[in-house]
Amino acid sequence: MLKKIGFGLLLMVALVFVAALAANVYLGRDYFISSVSRVLPTELQELSDEGKRLHQNLWVVDLHNDLLLAGRDATEWGTAGHSDIPRLQAGNMGLQVLSAVIKVPFGLNPEHNDDKSDMVLPLAIWQHWPVRTWFDLTERALYQAEKLKKIAETDAVHLVTTKAQLQSRKPLGVILAIEGLHALEGDEKNYQRLYDAGYRMMGLAHFFDNKVSGSAHGVNKGPLTDFGRRIVKRMQDDGVVIDLAHTSPAAIKEVLAMVSGPVVISHTGVKGTCPSMRNLSDEQISSIAAGGGVIGIGFWTTALCDITPDGIVKAIRYVTDLVGVEYVALGTDYDGATKVGFSADKLALITDALLRAKFSEHEIRLIMGENTQRVLGQILH
Ligand SMILES: [Zn+2]
Repeated sequence: MLKKIGFGLLLMVALVFVAALAANVYLGRDYFISSVSRVLPTELQELSDEGKRLHQNLWVVDLHNDLLLAGRDATEWGTAGHSDIPRLQAGNMGLQVLSAVIKVPFGLNPEHNDDKSDMVLPLAIWQHWPVRTWFDLTERALYQAEKLKKIAETDAVHLVTTKAQLQSRKPLGVILAIEGLHALEGDEKNYQRLYDAGYRMMGLAHFFDNKVSGSAHGVNKGPLTDFGRRIVKRMQDDGVVIDLAHTSPAAIKEVLAMVSGPVVISHTGVKGTCPSMRNLSDEQISSIAAGGGVIGIGFWTTALCDITPDGIVKAIRYVTDLVGVEYVALGTDYDGATKVGFSADKLALITDALLRAKFSEHEIRLIMGENTQRVLGQILH
């Protein structure tokens, strides 16, 4: 009898395994991730000749894109998700921050998450990441850095890790960033490993509180920990950009009081045009600007409440009216499990919408890239 049950169970496990393998081959490694990063049907105005011409002459910089998490070939023009290297090039991207997503909870609740569940684990298995990444968050970050280096070997992009490389203005430059320092696993030695792998921008928290900082979507949403204060200090000393996107209000306040140079909010909306949970308050916008930092306006639904190019410009206008044109930038969050109005190849639509909103050419240059370029130049070594 027992033998029979044992055999039945074994057969069932084998069948499930074969079915999963067949589904993996049939659907492809990009299947789940590209189905959550969608372009929604959106009314888009036709591009003006003036907008097209100006956009081609801009140095465009984007503070946040999660393309590294996609399972497709990033060097080929595709229709899945929002971006790939050719689509970024078609959008005239000069410098792109590519962020590594390390661990996110199931459901991505904007208000309250613990760290118990792990949506990246099934994704890593589905995408055939090496086994060393399955239960080790630092290894996940190192693997994504390796993935980027393989793309860079094809000459499609070049990795920017120093201030000098920033000056070269050879498109398409890429800065490697991380979304949440749970990737350190609470061990300071891992910070050095990430730095050595090329990470030059680090978001302190993502969807849950970690050993460095509270998250805007966490359980306690607390300030920095003692360990977190040491890490923030090291980031400042090493010229690593501190990214306060997703960070709890308490930790944002603490970091701003602690650091001397500028910091960034890589991807966000503002409460003034869209009052959602993690969008920035006027007070937060003012304190980032007071430190000389920059705020990347995201392109997705819950950041904007209006995903048209005019809706994006409305959020940009809100920041410039509040603190001035020097502190606002792009932080698209393309391919970050977001829903947006248009893909990366159509970025000229923003330049066009800025023209329609009567921003001057000088102001458009700042917003579309030069503000971020300035801040990166101040921070990187
Ligand atoms: Zn994010």
